[in-house]
Amino acid sequence: MDGHFDGQNPAKPHFVVVPLMAQGHMIPMADLALLLAGRGARVSLITTPVNAVRLRAAADLAAASGLTLRLVELPLPCAAAGLPDGCENVDLVPKQDLFLPFFRSLNLLADPLKSYLRAQPPASTCIISDQCMPWTMEVAGELGIRRLVFHGPSCFFLLCTLNLTKHNLYDKVADDLESFFVPELPQSIEVSKMTAQRFCDWPGMNDVFRHMQEAEESADGVVLNTFYELEQWCVDEFRRKVGKEVWPVGPVSLFHKDAGGKAVRGNGISGVDGGAGVLKWLEGREKESVLFVSFGSLARTRIKQLVEIGRGLEAAGTCFVWAVKEAEQSEEVDTWLSEFEERSGGRGLIIKGWVPQVLILAAPAVGGFMTHCGWNSTLEAVTAGVPMVTWPHFADQFLNSKLVVEVLGIGVGVGVKLPSFYQATEEAAVVGRDEVERAVVSVMGGGEEGEEMRRRAKELGKKARMAMEKGGSSYENLTQLIDDAMALPLAQ
Ligand code: UDP
Repeated sequence: MDGHFDGQNPAKPHFVVVPLMAQGHMIPMADLALLLAGRGARVSLITTPVNAVRLRAAADLAAASGLTLRLVELPLPCAAAGLPDGCENVDLVPKQDLFLPFFRSLNLLADPLKSYLRAQPPASTCIISDQCMPWTMEVAGELGIRRLVFHGPSCFFLLCTLNLTKHNLYDKVADDLESFFVPELPQSIEVSKMTAQRFCDWPGMNDVFRHMQEAEESADGVVLNTFYELEQWCVDEFRRKVGKEVWPVGPVSLFHKDAGGKAVRGNGISGVDGGAGVLKWLEGREKESVLFVSFGSLARTRIKQLVEIGRGLEAAGTCFVWAVKEAEQSEEVDTWLSEFEERSGGRGLIIKGWVPQVLILAAPAVGGFMTHCGWNSTLEAVTAGVPMVTWPHFADQFLNSKLVVEVLGIGVGVGVKLPSFYQATEEAAVVGRDEVERAVVSVMGGGEEGEEMRRRAKELGKKARMAMEKGGSSYENLTQLIDDAMALPLAQ
């Protein structure tokens, strides 16, 4: 938190990276911070004490590679915001009615960030803040610092949202389940308000969303975790519609070249043995024979749904690695899972707690990914060239699933019709075992459909890697971003 970076040239670009405190936001923005530092920029990665534990690995990695990345811990006065002590991450919010206080509490980071930034030369500084951190707009404005916005979701989702909002379609439907087509797309994409509208749709959040929109509209440019070749027409159209510079610089997970870096992404939670156990298990499996089942960092699966997944996997007869979160565990769940694992006779492995996802996806034995379609997970599967069984839960996930299944042709949906908010208390299963079996067999069963998806997925994986290499689209976009950001006029 002290002054300039010691011994560093203040004329060098200085990026201040401000992620929302949620794994799906911190992980890609930490990767972005590492990529920027890898290009010689000085980077301040802004976080809070509880989250610093999870980001420590990224800072250590930077230090070991001689990169100038500083982890900056700002205090978040939880009690003053009506939150329990230490409630500094979306995955630590204990109940739904504390989300609004959580989002409001983020504004309290503005003053400490201003104090930190006052010691930095504005001429070489640029904030890159998460779209969910709109309070950075006032900070940048007051200090005369440039600001870019980072979007976590796919460009496809962003474009669909823009088009839906422009045509006011959400206000025109009779009910939340009525289906309609997203306007101004080259392809027919059918959605409902229930599945396509942003989540967190409860009283009081509208003001938070309005603030986010204002901050986005007034930002100097937009940074995306995607690559041009994946979402070409979306990027072109999105850029045209927002009327400002858009830099697709992903997949940012490809910053990590070796297993060590991949293993520690988002680390600091629990359950990690560096991936050694699961990787060893995977080594003994046939090429592309294993389905990896994981629903990101937030979505929670309850016992009835776990049973349907298990029965579906059993009926499909596929090998699997299944990640079950700590928050999903209970005596009943543990008993059922142990019996199930035993019954599967070595065909499957259940891992409890945080898993090293990008390492698992990169294992040659993994041939499919049952995913909730969080954008990071989706892009990580694309990068690994692995086809998907899509099971969206909420937020951008339904549209990401449409992109995977209907636009890119690298996945099969399990057929989920309704969102399930991750803290919902309903116990019912939303997808039955037969639907799980059908989708898993299509992707893993070796039929023509599965083979074609696999071929397309591998091709995209190759393009993803090329995009991040020197001369590739994302590599060059990052160069351009650094140059353009430094050439922007200072905020007034
Ligand atoms: N992730 C992981 N291990 C886990 C769960 C998640 O490494 O056990 C990572 C995953 O690789 C991805 C991120 O957490 O980078 C989750 O982001 P995503 O956008 O897919 O979903 P969210 O968690 O935001 O719903």
